[in-house]
Amino acid sequence: MRVLILGGTREARELAHIASGERGFEIVSSLAGRVRAPLLPEGEVRVGGFGGAEGLRAWLVANDVAAMVDATHPFAAAISANAAVAARASGVPLLHLRRPRWVEQAGDRWMRVPDLPTAATAVGTFGERVFLTIGRQGVDAFAGLDRPWFLIRAIDPPEGALPPRHELLLARGPFAVQDEARLLAEYRIDALVTKDSGGEQTEAKLAAARAAGIPVVVVDRPPLPEGARIVESSAQALDWLRIRRARRG
Ligand code: NAP
Repeated sequence: MRVLILGGTREARELAHIASGERGFEIVSSLAGRVRAPLLPEGEVRVGGFGGAEGLRAWLVANDVAAMVDATHPFAAAISANAAVAARASGVPLLHLRRPRWVEQAGDRWMRVPDLPTAATAVGTFGERVFLTIGRQGVDAFAGLDRPWFLIRAIDPPEGALPPRHELLLARGPFAVQDEARLLAEYRIDALVTKDSGGEQTEAKLAAARAAGIPVVVVDRPPLPEGARIVESSAQALDWLRIRRARRG
């Protein structure tokens, strides 16, 4: 049974790893090709866009895919929407694998906002020295802010316009709480901006901000397509694949 995993996340790599170890599954992982040196999942990997929902539908049919798992990043909304359209058009069953959201804890000073432009408006009133940890994409939403100074951290350099006063820090998680705390102190950070990506890889910054009493602007996730079937772990996704395999006989 050929399975397409739309990847680019740790959970996608985990699923490729555990499903590849089972008889009866032929796993193909798909990466967008944005990161220069991606961490590659086990098994077959294809790289690059499909050419919209119609391209993905055609790919599913041409490659005899029996099930698809959208394990992309919670903020990769376009590919998730394309997956839903392509699944409907091709009849290939689709599951979305989304790690749980981060949950506010006692001592946190969070402000939840619906999107990056709202985060940019909010942060202007929050801090003078802002730690922008939203990844490579969407930094241009902050380009118009010339008053705060930004520490921008991403795996690869962001594309598009950047705020005029900034320092770029290229780094890939996981990060430890004590290192994050040191970074906040060293750069005298007084506000942090993050997407609600969830997961353990990058949550240390939240614990460090909590300990230091630093406010955090948390950007909410875009919604998944209506009627989406969603699980939160690679183990649950594997169970779903096993059920599909059993149904095929
Ligand atoms: P996006 O806005 O949802 O997708 C834009 C286009 O990129 C899609 O229409 C598709 O092109 C292509 N694409 C995206 N993911 C793909 C995949 N796994 N395989 C093949 N093509 C893919 O996506 P994005 O936010 O740019 O994210 C790109 C990749 O980076 C995703 O795989 C995601 O898991 C990962 N990522 C994203 C973030 C983030 O904050 N957005 C953070 C960490 C990792 P076509 O229409 O041509 O098929």
